[in-house]
Amino acid sequence: MGTMRAMQLDRPGGRLEAVELPVPEPGPGEVLLRVAACGVCRTDLHIVDGDITDGRYPVVPGHQIVGQVVRGAGDLAAGTRVGVPWLGSTCGHCGYCTSGRENLCDDAEFTGYQRPGGFAEYAVADARFCFPLPEGYPDDQVAPLLCAGLIGYRALAMAGDAARLGFYGFGAAAHILTQIAAWQGRAVYAFTRDGDRAGQAFARRLGAVWAGGSGEAPPEQLDAAILFAPAGELVPRSLTHVRKGGQVICAGIHMSDIPSFPYRDLWGERVIRSVANLTRADGHALLELAPRAGVRTQVTRFPLADTVAALDALRTGEIEGAAVVMVD
Ligand SMILES: [Zn+2]
Ligand SMILES: [Zn+2]
Repeated sequence: MGTMRAMQLDRPGGRLEAVELPVPEPGPGEVLLRVAACGVCRTDLHIVDGDITDGRYPVVPGHQIVGQVVRGAGDLAAGTRVGVPWLGSTCGHCGYCTSGRENLCDDAEFTGYQRPGGFAEYAVADARFCFPLPEGYPDDQVAPLLCAGLIGYRALAMAGDAARLGFYGFGAAAHILTQIAAWQGRAVYAFTRDGDRAGQAFARRLGAVWAGGSGEAPPEQLDAAILFAPAGELVPRSLTHVRKGGQVICAGIHMSDIPSFPYRDLWGERVIRSVANLTRADGHALLELAPRAGVRTQVTRFPLADTVAALDALRTGEIEGAAVVMVD
């Protein structure tokens, strides 16, 4: 069926390079998609930088794929616009899969890691793991919902009824979650890199009641803190700002080591936990909620050929909102 342009990584820590690959052939139950847009996630950086190394190489990264079905499968007919998230497939029968925790399946395969991703003109995906997308969001603006929004939403759900919520690391996920949390009537405290006045103003515009540097103390104790930044030192630091019975929720796939801290900071039934991946139920819930909550994403677009520049911009923190690769 010819060839396509794609961005491929040959090994962890290698270079992401523009290549010509055969257009993938969908297997049983898989759709073939013409990719329109693919969001850039911090996990893509961890994959390219070799912080996580369990991929199947060479690999085309990218796991917030928005595309049009060109060859249908399952319930998805040609012409349908769908989203492909990080969770690419699961075994379907293990204890995790059968108890509503497919995000923890030992045999799960992840898009743009063990399965080919969306920094390419075409992608294949298991039809059962694709999401129908809400109308009213253009391709570029819906893409960041597929991981930043979705895993952020899972972390928000873990926070339960927390009324005072801290977000550490104000990137793609926090910019979406702030809008949802504010709409739900929660008070959001946004922690950016120290001195990032523009990022703090951005957080306030989106509904945060307070914004400051990650070294600052919030004006009130928090019921929960969600950490999107991959910096282990934020765990003990945020813990000191969480009330008794409160939680620190680590939402990234990779984090630098956590420094030791006094037990008294954990005392009082405080909880530290991680959030891993997503379930399809999380995806359906978020994609139904986002339009109702009036979520608007702010995106910076890059052409496919500039995917490396998009990753670099994310690494240096110069993206306000989310970076999205556009495939035309
Ligand atoms: Zn399983
Ligand atoms: Zn992601």
